[in-house]
Amino acid sequence: MDIRVDRNRCAGSGLCMAQVPAVFDQSDEDGKVLLNAQDPGPAVAGAVRAAAARCPSGAITLHEHDTAGH
Ligand code: SF4
Repeated sequence: MDIRVDRNRCAGSGLCMAQVPAVFDQSDEDGKVLLNAQDPGPAVAGAVRAAAARCPSGAITLHEHDTAGH
């Protein structure tokens, strides 16, 4: 899984960091989302999908990739 965040769209609601703090962080400067991990692995994939679905501004997009060979 390849996580991307569009900081131009992020409203700084903090929902994603509250749900998956290992992956999403909040900037001290502008209050918007930062990524701690772009490809955090299957252990948190479900939580990341849920956070992306709940993001009120649609700023989190997920790109599945073939993990064979990684
Ligand atoms: S849930 Fe969406 S709008 Fe809220 S902080 Fe995360 S990326 Fe930004």
